[in-house]
Amino acid sequence: MEETSPLSPSHESQQQVRRNLFRTYEHKIYTSYLLITFSVILTFTKIISTAYILAYQETDSGAPLFLWNLVNIILDIIYLILKAFRMPYVKRARNGEEVDEFIILQVLFIIQTTCYVIWQIPGNVWYWRCDDCFDNAPALTALTLANLILGYLYLLGPAFLVVSICACLPVAIIFVMFISGGSQMPASDDMLNSLSCEEYDSQKHVGDAICTICAVEYCPREKITVMQCDSRHFFHTECIKAWLKINANCPICRAPYIVD
Ligand SMILES: [Zn+2]
Ligand SMILES: [Zn+2]
Repeated sequence: MEETSPLSPSHESQQQVRRNLFRTYEHKIYTSYLLITFSVILTFTKIISTAYILAYQETDSGAPLFLWNLVNIILDIIYLILKAFRMPYVKRARNGEEVDEFIILQVLFIIQTTCYVIWQIPGNVWYWRCDDCFDNAPALTALTLANLILGYLYLLGPAFLVVSICACLPVAIIFVMFISGGSQMPASDDMLNSLSCEEYDSQKHVGDAICTICAVEYCPREKITVMQCDSRHFFHTECIKAWLKINANCPICRAPYIVD
């Protein structure tokens, strides 16, 4: 007969925590002024330096690097324009509104991102196959390398997040906290200070024997916090504190966290 081990966390609640974290992550990325400012400054710097080198430096490298950087610049300009159109939606999302972005804007963003990612492929092929590019056009070739490295980083960020959410939730939570914007979602300090706390007792606390946030088994008399939504929704007090700092809701059922 199939029986669930008392130590294995229910897969379902772990899946719910992951889905919840993905949604939170999406919201944070969307509303973080820090990330928006960073990406706009970076893109702007890329455009200026690329335009300068394409206009004033030797451009005949022996490979189509000029063309590659030119298309890159066009994609970057489109990106900045789309970002500008997105800002009113970001402001509303930061005010806690449920935002339905204009569908054409979303489609254009997807097309721009797809073109950017696909355009990295010929860039890599042309750059790595060209042996005398650095001799023929050092500035253009160095620029190409810099833009290729930025392309790798651009792809690595989301890949890192997906892997960390699937493999190690605590790392993902720290990452989302790091990029947190000023949205309305996190719990206030008052809420965190008034968090109820009790000692774990396997007889009394019926539910997962493992904290779904950190995936560590509860020890007897360890400090845990039971959410108001459901007596089976409890977590290590330290873990739920870290969670509430990014999102004031229950990690499992998304019920809003309210102080009694
Ligand atoms: Zn925990
Ligand atoms: Zn709950």
